[in-house]
Amino acid sequence: MIIMKTDATPEQVTQVVKEIKKYGLRADVSKGKYRTIIGLVGDENKAPFEHFATFPGVKEATMVEVPYKLISKEYSKFLEDEMEHSIIKVGDIEIGGSEPVFIAGPCAVESHRQLLRIAEEAKKAGAHILRGGIFKPRSSVHSFQGLGSIGWEEAREALAWLREAGERFNLATVTEVRGETQVDLAAEYADILQIGSRNMYNQDLLTKIARTKKPILFKRHFGAGIEEFLSFAEYIAAEGNKDIILCERGILPIGKGKNYTRYTLDLSAVPVIQKETYLPVIVDPSHASGRRDLIFNMCCAAIAAGASGLMIEMHYNPAEALVDAQQAITPDELKEVINTCREIHKLTKPRKNEES
Ligand code: PEP
Ligand code: MN
Repeated sequence: MIIMKTDATPEQVTQVVKEIKKYGLRADVSKGKYRTIIGLVGDENKAPFEHFATFPGVKEATMVEVPYKLISKEYSKFLEDEMEHSIIKVGDIEIGGSEPVFIAGPCAVESHRQLLRIAEEAKKAGAHILRGGIFKPRSSVHSFQGLGSIGWEEAREALAWLREAGERFNLATVTEVRGETQVDLAAEYADILQIGSRNMYNQDLLTKIARTKKPILFKRHFGAGIEEFLSFAEYIAAEGNKDIILCERGILPIGKGKNYTRYTLDLSAVPVIQKETYLPVIVDPSHASGRRDLIFNMCCAAIAAGASGLMIEMHYNPAEALVDAQQAITPDELKEVINTCREIHKLTKPRKNEES
C-alpha cells in the first residue's frame, strides 16, 4: 500500500501507478477526502516497497499484513475518517447506512404470478430488496434447478419478471449467478448479483462478476473461516469493485447426532468482520437455520449483533414453495420481523458507534 502525501499532485499519482505496472502489478487507486492511497494488486514478492517510497508525492509505502488488503480497515483508515464503514447505494437504498436493510422473497422464482405476489407482500411488510433464485444451486440433479437452468429463454423471461416486480413495487432486486456464462445476462436485469455459498471459492466467477460493476452479495462458504471468506471477497475488490455486501449464512454444524438446524449461524462473525473490514455485513437466517420457527429469533439476534441487514425467504404459502419450503416465512411473519428488528436496531446501534 502506498500512501500519498495530502498535497500530492495527480501527475505524481500517475507516475507511481506507471512504476507499479512496470513490475507486473496492478494499482488500486482510492481517492479519499484528504489523500490518495494506492494498493498493489498481484504477487507481493515482486513489490519493491523501498523503491516506491522514494517517488515524489509519496508519504510512505507499507505492507498491509492481512491477506484481504483492499477491503481491510488497515487500508481504509488512511483514506478519511468516515471510511470506518462503507455504504453501498442501490437506487435510494443504502446498505451499511443508518438503517438496516431487509431483503425478502422466494427461494426460487417459479412463475410470474408467484413472484409478483411475493414482491407485493414483501413491499407491504417493509422490505427494500426482492430476492429470487433463477439459477439454483441444488444438492441433487434430480430436483428443480430454477427456471434459468431450463434454457436461456426461460432464464431471460424469469429475469424480466424479477425486474418487472422490482419496478412495480419499488424494490431493488438480487439474484444468484451460479456460473460464468450467466453473469452478463443476470447483470442486464438485476440490481445486485449474488454469489452463493458453494461458489465462494470460484475465483474466475468472482473476477468475472466483479467486472459487471454491480454490487455483489457475497455469501460465506459453510466450511470457510472468516479470514478465508474475506480473502475471497478480495478477488472482487481486486477488480476495482468494492461494492461488496458480505453475508453470513451459517457454517457446518459440529459433532455427531442431530443438530436440529441446517447449519450453525455464526453470529460473532458479524462484529468480527466489522472490525476487520469496512464492508457491510448482512445475515441470512433462512439457510442458516433451515427452520421457519427459528427465523424470528435469529433475525432479532443478527440485528442485535450489528448486522446491516437481513436476507429472508418468504412465501405467501410456504408449503407450496418448490424449494426450501420448510424455512420460508409468511408475509405477516416478515412484517413482524421487520418491525421488531427496527426497534432492536434503535437500541443496539448507539453501543456499536461508541465502540468503533
Ligand atoms: C440462496 O440464497 O438462494 C442460497 C442458495 O443460499 P446459500 O448459497 O447460502 O446456500
Ligand atoms: Mn433457499
